[in-house]
Amino acid sequence: GSTDRSSTDRRRLVLPGQYGPLFDDGGPALVVEAREFFTARPVHRAKAHLWLSALRHRVRELGDRAEHVQVDTLREALVGRDDLDVVDPPSRTLRAQVRHWGRGTEVLPSRGFVTDEAEFAEWAAQGTGRFRMETHYERVRRREGWLMQSDGPIGGKFSLDDQNREPPPRGATTLGLPDPWWPTEDDIDDEVRHDLDRWERDGVARFVGRDDTRRFAVTADEARQALDDFVQVRLGDFGPFEDATLTNDWTMAHSLLSVPMNLGVLDPFEVVEAALVAHRDHDAPLASVEGFVRQVAGWRDYVWHLYWWFGDDYGAEENALGAHERIPRWWQELDASAIDAVCLSTAMEGLHDHGWLHHIQRLMVLGNWALQRGYDPVHLTEWFTDVFVDGTDWVMPANIIGMSQHADGGMVATKPYASGGRYIDRMSDHCGGCRYDPTKRLGEDACPFTAGYWAFLSRTEPALQDNPRMMRPLQQMRRLTDLDEVVAQETRRGTP
Ligand code: SF4
Repeated sequence: GSTDRSSTDRRRLVLPGQYGPLFDDGGPALVVEAREFFTARPVHRAKAHLWLSALRHRVRELGDRAEHVQVDTLREALVGRDDLDVVDPPSRTLRAQVRHWGRGTEVLPSRGFVTDEAEFAEWAAQGTGRFRMETHYERVRRREGWLMQSDGPIGGKFSLDDQNREPPPRGATTLGLPDPWWPTEDDIDDEVRHDLDRWERDGVARFVGRDDTRRFAVTADEARQALDDFVQVRLGDFGPFEDATLTNDWTMAHSLLSVPMNLGVLDPFEVVEAALVAHRDHDAPLASVEGFVRQVAGWRDYVWHLYWWFGDDYGAEENALGAHERIPRWWQELDASAIDAVCLSTAMEGLHDHGWLHHIQRLMVLGNWALQRGYDPVHLTEWFTDVFVDGTDWVMPANIIGMSQHADGGMVATKPYASGGRYIDRMSDHCGGCRYDPTKRLGEDACPFTAGYWAFLSRTEPALQDNPRMMRPLQQMRRLTDLDEVVAQETRRGTP
C-alpha cells in the first residue's frame, strides 16, 4: 500500500525554487518540467530562460538519480503517483496542486530561508498582529550571533543604515567597479534558447523582453563563484550606494544573488556567512556588511513569512488608496520608446534588457510612478512577478502591495513610498539629461514625478490624513497655491 512506504523508497519531487542541493537528501528525484511554469502568463524571456536552465542543469547534476519529465501541466506529472515526497514548495498554487493531485505525496517542511515556518508562526502567535521587519531581524541576529558582541550588536545598533544611503559619487557615470562575475553559457543554455524560440514560434508561449546573454547563476557551483566575487569585489560599496542610481551602471554594487537564492541553488545561510567572513578576515566595512545581512536574513525572510501569514486575500481586498488603473500597454511590453522621462525610460530599458533592476529603481522609479498614477496593486504585483527574473509568488506581494504601493493600509510600511523628482535628482544622475526639471511642478518642463507627487497626495488625502507620518507632506500640499492647476495638468497629461 502507498501509505506505509517509508521515506527511503520515495522519490523527491523537485519543483520551481528547489533546484539546488539544499532540497536534496540523496535519494532518487523527479524533476518536473511543466510548460505551464513558463507560459501561464507572458513572462520575461530572460526569466523563462533562467528558470528552465536551472531546472535542466539540476537534471544533469543529479545524473542517474533524476527522472526528468516534460509535460504541459504539473497535474500530468502527479496524478496516479504514490511514490513521491516533496519539500513544501514556495508558492500557494504549487502547494495546493501538490496536495490536490499528488494525494500520496509526503510533504516535508519548507527550506531555503533563515527561519522556518513553524518558528515564525510560534513567534507570530505571541505577538500583537503586526510584525516589524526590525524585530524579526534582531531575533535572527541574536539567535545566530551574527555581528554580535557580548553587550549587543557590533557597531552599537542593529541597523547601521544611517551610514549607508549615500547619493552617487559626484560627477561619476559609474561606480567604477570591475564587471560582476558572469556565467559562461553552455549546451544547456543553447538548448533552452532553442526550445523557447520554438514555443514562441508555435504560439504556445508569449514572452517579453530580451534574452541575449545569461547573466545570473543557475547552479550551486555558479552561485558560489558569484557570491565569492561579490563579497571580495563589490560588498564594500554595497552599503553606501545601495539607494543610488546611475544611468550607465545597471548593476551598481548589488550582488545579483536574489536569482540563485530564489531558484533554491544558493542557501541564504551561506550568503550571510560569506559576508561575515569578509568583514572578520578581510576588512569589509561594517555598515555595508550589516546592510547586506539585513537584506538577506531580515527583509528576504520577512517577506517570505508575510506571504504565508497574510494569506490569499492580501491586497485583493484592501486596496487602501483606491488604485484601480490598468497597467498601460507600454509597461506590459516593456517599451520605453515613447517615454521622455530619463529616470523612467532608463528603468524600463534596463528591465527590457536584463529582466532585473536594483531595488531602488524598482521602488523609487517604477513603484513610485505606479503609486502616483494609481495602478491596480494586485495586477502590478503579478506584473513584477512576471517580468523580473527573481520574481516569485512569495516575494512580490509584501514588496509591491505593502512596501511599494501601501495598498495594505500600513501592514508592511508606515507610509507610502512616494517621492518627487528632487529626491530622484539627489539619488541619481538622471535629471541632468532630462527634458523635465525636477524642481518644477507646473508648465512644459514640469517633472512628472514632482507634479505627480502632489497630484497623488491630493487624490489620497482622505485615506492618508490620519497617518502621523503623512502630516507634514499633506500640510505642505495644502499650502500650495497652484495645487488645482497641478492636478488639472496631471489629469490632462495622463499616462502615456
Ligand atoms: Fe525623472 Fe523628473 Fe529627473 Fe526627468 S527631471 S529624470 S522625469 S525625476
